Amino acid sequence: MSDNSFFPVKPEIAKTAYVDEAAYARLYEQSINDPEAFWGEQGKRIDWIKPYSKVKDVSYTGDVHIKWFYDGTLNVSANCVDRHLATRGDQTAIIFEGDDPGVSKHITYKELHEQVCRLANVLKKNGVKKGDRVTIYLPMIPEAAYAMLACARVGAIHSIVFGGFSPDSLKDRIVDCDSHFVITSDEGLRGGRKVPLKANADKAVAAAPGVQHVLVVKHTGGNVAWTEGRDLWYHEEIASVSADCPPEEMSAEDPLFILYTSGSTGKPKGVLHTTGGYLVYASMTHQYVFDYKDGEVYWCTADVGWVTGHSYIVYGPLANGATTLMFEGVPTYPDISRFWQVVDKHKVNIFYTAPTAIRSLMREGEGPVKKTSRSSLRILGSVGEPINPEAWLWYYNVVGDGRCPIVDTWWQTETGGILITPLPGAIGQKPGSATKPFFGVKPVVVDNDGKELEGETEGNLCISDSWPGQMRTVFGDHERFVQTYFSTFAGYYFTGDGCRRDADGYYWITGRVDDVINVSGHRMGTAEVESALVAHPKVAEAAVVGYPHDLKGQGIYAYVTLNAGESPTEELRKELVAWVRKEIGPIASPDLIQWSPGLPKTRSGKIMRRILRKIAANEHDSLGDTSTLADPTVVTDLIENRMNNA
Ligand code: ATP
Ligand code: MG
Repeated sequence: MSDNSFFPVKPEIAKTAYVDEAAYARLYEQSINDPEAFWGEQGKRIDWIKPYSKVKDVSYTGDVHIKWFYDGTLNVSANCVDRHLATRGDQTAIIFEGDDPGVSKHITYKELHEQVCRLANVLKKNGVKKGDRVTIYLPMIPEAAYAMLACARVGAIHSIVFGGFSPDSLKDRIVDCDSHFVITSDEGLRGGRKVPLKANADKAVAAAPGVQHVLVVKHTGGNVAWTEGRDLWYHEEIASVSADCPPEEMSAEDPLFILYTSGSTGKPKGVLHTTGGYLVYASMTHQYVFDYKDGEVYWCTADVGWVTGHSYIVYGPLANGATTLMFEGVPTYPDISRFWQVVDKHKVNIFYTAPTAIRSLMREGEGPVKKTSRSSLRILGSVGEPINPEAWLWYYNVVGDGRCPIVDTWWQTETGGILITPLPGAIGQKPGSATKPFFGVKPVVVDNDGKELEGETEGNLCISDSWPGQMRTVFGDHERFVQTYFSTFAGYYFTGDGCRRDADGYYWITGRVDDVINVSGHRMGTAEVESALVAHPKVAEAAVVGYPHDLKGQGIYAYVTLNAGESPTEELRKELVAWVRKEIGPIASPDLIQWSPGLPKTRSGKIMRRILRKIAANEHDSLGDTSTLADPTVVTDLIENRMNNA
């Protein structure tokens, strides 16, 4: 792939960055040679009630346990709010940009403090205690951040369920972690449309008898059904309690939150993160990866329903005293320029989004971007999937006007924070590569027998030692934790992703190993073939899977979405096959191409290749867990139009 295009560190960025090339080399080496000393020092970046004396106790074998800073005590909400009051009480903590472009507001750290304390008191008043689970099912409104921090303040464990999930998915997640308290709103707003959150929560709670209270934010003012005694209005409750709530003293290893993974590869797992190590790691990565400087406006477009929203909208930025933007809407409403209008309106300096958003905006051409200024932008980020070089270049040249480095951050719900990424002042970028490991992270590439491969190579991506942000267990199922992550390759954390390491030591994520295709004995990552297809000027998006093939073992089945205005023809089909053959080689030429107006994606925008594999193999009766699909009708359409009707 585009190994040969290289974007060196920009001198003007390196000059002011926290970490330049030399510092990266020095600190990385320290962090690997003496992790206890390195993290023992870094842990001091947050405030401890009782300082830790023990840094790390980890075993990746046997029972598997992971502990960091484990004799220290602290409170996450005190770190994200209270400790900034003296120095930046009047600084904006959160900028809220509504779905409606006419609606926005600024919340200072002082105001944030009052809101969090009041809500924490509401939780206590209604019986929520340390260790209890609270389910949050809210739109992207400031109350979502207040709710997370209020839980952290009283020591309750939050479990956020993305507002786009159905009543059934919500019910499953409430029941799985046995939560008795749900926070929702009357309705959500997305792209001008109302989402009936309270009605969904009512249905979910009807099947989750453990729930005692539903706290409801009045957001749109829409009508809602009401269950007396169970339902509580947020605005009434917070007015009824004091604005003073001392933070609970938590052990570093007390749970902070549970978050279910997005379900790309199977049934979602209840990932459990704890208090001290998570916060150290989230705040440190936020500062260095985005090179966040005091006073800058930082915008991550994720939803708080995903881990990206947890670590890089709320916990990391607020622990660092940053100004973080929360956007309620979608990139295409009221029009396709919305992201860039918001950037101009709030003078955003750092912008962090997903390849799926970039690809969908790219489909519409440069015009909608170029009519905005974007001159405030300094750093761009990408997360969630491999970013195709084509999309990377568009992001860099069109959105960033060639001025802003792109940090392509590879990580997972399980990792709590970013593990492989460029640091903008230290690591030059190659489009499509997540580049190099963050401090303390030791990626290893192993073959299918678990043997570590050296140098330039390709295989299964594992991490050989722990970092503070690592998940501690699957909630209520430690055995599943051990099985899923530590049993495939003994002694390593297995990420489930495949990767290639090039001659410069750069990492290229090739997709999930379950998605690897084996054509006539040649193993191929899906990312590479997809990137070749997307590089064609008429292709907007592509998903590639293997399907049973008599001669080759597996054939290559490509689902292709064309750019706006393009129509599918037999000629174009041939052209695409020839194109891939030229870009990668004959071995990668697609055997079948299905025109797909839409692709099955998770609610977080990731392509669910496991479903596409089933469709390609004509096994559409056993699609597996589809509860996290964004739009189930896409699947019906794909089944009807599948290519190999045999
Ligand atoms: P599930 O684990 O339930 O199947 P999921 O893996 O999609 O869901 P997440 O934890 O949200 O849930 O996503 C992590 C995965 O996303 C990574 O394992 C990787 O496959 C992909 N990913 C994230 N960021 C990047 C990136 N910068 N480059 C390549 N892949 C990425
Ligand atoms: Mg995963």
